[in-house]
Amino acid sequence: MATQPTHDDSLPPPEAHKTVLFCPECGHRSPITGDWDVTTTSTERLLVCTGCGAVVDRRSESLETA
Ligand SMILES: [Zn+2]
Repeated sequence: MATQPTHDDSLPPPEAHKTVLFCPECGHRSPITGDWDVTTTSTERLLVCTGCGAVVDRRSESLETA
């Protein structure tokens, strides 16, 4: 008996799914595939801000093992 609305404003537009990272130090903003300086260690991949050198993202390389 409940009628579902045909539109839902809570759904973000598709573009919102693109991952954008922010530098907490200088506010630089770029997509995860953008102009970050990628540093790979034996266990991690670091995304480093090209503006101030802060580590913006850190993820385990093991998660990407094919
Ligand atoms: Zn920065």
